Amino acid sequence: MSTRPYIVGNWKMHGTRAMLSEARAIDRAAERLLKVEVALAPPFTLIHATRKEAELIGVGAQDVHPADGGAHTGDISAAMAKDAGAGFTIVGHSERRTNHGETDALVKRKAQAVLDAGMTAIVCVGETQSERDAGQAEDVVRAQLHGSLPTGEGVAEKLTIAYEPVWAIGSGKTPTPDDVGAMHGFIREQLVAIHGETGSSVRILYGGSVNPENAAELLSSEEVGGALVGGASLTAESFLGIIVAA
Ligand code: PGA
Repeated sequence: MSTRPYIVGNWKMHGTRAMLSEARAIDRAAERLLKVEVALAPPFTLIHATRKEAELIGVGAQDVHPADGGAHTGDISAAMAKDAGAGFTIVGHSERRTNHGETDALVKRKAQAVLDAGMTAIVCVGETQSERDAGQAEDVVRAQLHGSLPTGEGVAEKLTIAYEPVWAIGSGKTPTPDDVGAMHGFIREQLVAIHGETGSSVRILYGGSVNPENAAELLSSEEVGGALVGGASLTAESFLGIIVAA
């Protein structure tokens, strides 16, 4: 496992070709920031162009359909995302789970499709505010991990986990660094339970309202291997602020 922090920008449904200049600026600066592994997940429509702009940073997709191909109007397969230039794919983001009713079982099929296509997968988990208030955060995350992660020989090496408390996404609210550390430690235990010794080297990212001001603190716990960044990844200036802080 790379010990460099892994900072991934998730552009969500933002970005037309005009935004490629941001990707270019991030890529140019990434050259000077060799201590950090940087990647961007633009919308599907920009994967190919971003890959061409960016020489140093990773480029990935935000989702894929689990099937190889077929009658799935509007969907994109893992092989298509790979062909467009994606090296990884985010699966199980809470916005997919909520807006598209994605279950753990579906997320697992998507993650498997991503691995089968030769990419790595970033699998997202996280509890809602009401689940946290009810003291169920660990139970929810445990169930998501056990239900969403593919298993088998060589799989753990291709996985990254993103812990994203749903209530922290886009809200400006964040857990305390202690809470992040505690949950990441809990996720580590689950990864070892699921994947054995190889689970101890899976990277665990934190996501949810990370910005240049709070990044250093949120990433300070031992088990935090980087960040999945939404809003603050949309401009090179703020994303580079996070990269520098990491
Ligand atoms: P945010 O989004 O940084 O805008 O909170 C994070 C994410 O959803 O990955």
